[in-house]
Amino acid sequence: MSGQDNKRGADSLKALAEEKELNIRLNQIKHKIMVLSGKGGVGKSTVSANIAVTLAMEGLKVGLLDSDFHGPSIPTLLNLEDHYPEVHGNIMTPIQYNDNLKVMSIGFLIPHKDDAVIWRGPLKMNVLKQLLRDVEWGELDFLVIDVPPGTGDEPLSVAQLMPDIDGAVIVTTPQNLSLNDVRKSINFCRQLKVPVVGVVENMSGLVCPHCHKLINVFKTGGGERMAKEMGVPFLGSIPLDPRIVETSDNGEPFVSNFKDSEAARAFRGVVGPIIAMGGKSLPENVSASVVPVDSQKDKGKLYKIAIPVVGGHLSQHFGHCDEFWIFDVDRESKKIVERETAPSPPHEPGLLPRWLAGKGVNLIITGGMGPQAQQLFAQDGVEVFLGASSDDPDKIVQAYLDESLVLGENTCDHED
Ligand code: ADP
Repeated sequence: MSGQDNKRGADSLKALAEEKELNIRLNQIKHKIMVLSGKGGVGKSTVSANIAVTLAMEGLKVGLLDSDFHGPSIPTLLNLEDHYPEVHGNIMTPIQYNDNLKVMSIGFLIPHKDDAVIWRGPLKMNVLKQLLRDVEWGELDFLVIDVPPGTGDEPLSVAQLMPDIDGAVIVTTPQNLSLNDVRKSINFCRQLKVPVVGVVENMSGLVCPHCHKLINVFKTGGGERMAKEMGVPFLGSIPLDPRIVETSDNGEPFVSNFKDSEAARAFRGVVGPIIAMGGKSLPENVSASVVPVDSQKDKGKLYKIAIPVVGGHLSQHFGHCDEFWIFDVDRESKKIVERETAPSPPHEPGLLPRWLAGKGVNLIITGGMGPQAQQLFAQDGVEVFLGASSDDPDKIVQAYLDESLVLGENTCDHED
């Protein structure tokens, strides 16, 4: 055997040993949750930190990982700016923030915080790899990962380098610009097969600094509408509260300092479905009104999907199709079990939603639907996915089962 062969053999043995160590490290983490946003400045880091602190306050073992290159803010938010992780060989030890919460941030790896850091591609990848793979978290119930904003290379690398992510929380603000980005983030998760835990609307209304009552400064509710439209759960609205800026600047977690505030209550609502993922019963002050649609829990059950069809293809206009194809699917084996074709009933306002709900349909996939029909379906607990393309319905349902269905905009602007 040549010297080169020997070296190659030793290298691959080393790589195998490293992979094994990595698996042992990552297997100690029960659930990994990413926090995403379509763009920066919407409060993604604030939400990540407060989710992590709230989970830790519930007695869970939590890690908070800040992988946001664009001004990592977790060290500031938790007053850990002068901390540096211990390094043993390749492995870093996260900062122990309190008994239940450990923190690791890209900010800990930048020696001079005020220097502009130019992250060249390969350096960025190396640092990201270290952050995601070489941190000794120990046993954790949850690892909350604050991911760089957008749907570009950076969030993609995070999702690829950290295997088996259990779910994503997507943060938006009520403005349309930010809401449009949410669709992209949801599709990003669908393409990566990461279940969407839900959407959070941050900076939704203002808490008056004097009387602490909620004032709706901008229009609110867009996040909830968008979540419904995209068929993902809505986790709650967090108001703009000037005390969040103050506490963040002082490095004190908001949720533990203002437990009785509207915003802290909203954060507890957001963590409800996350705690439920861990199978732990919910504390009394935590609500879990929203159950992740993508959660594994109901996957065994038969599920009915309806698609409006014209000429053998998905009809872009839900109310004006020739017929409905109704599929019985098994989400566990990812198979279509049966398909029924039913001629569309006469076009009468409000009739279609009742007719489909009466057939036991759980989900409708269509191109577009007016807001009133959406509301009627929501009342009946029927999910609606909008923005599907005019493709073969069988293909669409299979893509849904394979979690690779890509959705775009609602193609209907009718009022009903
Ligand atoms: P991102 O991580 O999306 O870039 P940050 O979490 O850093 O955003 O938040 C941006 C700024 O907005 C910070 O100054 C933060 O304190 C403030 N902020 C975030 N959410 C709220 C809120 N609900 N009320 C008031 N200020 C907020």
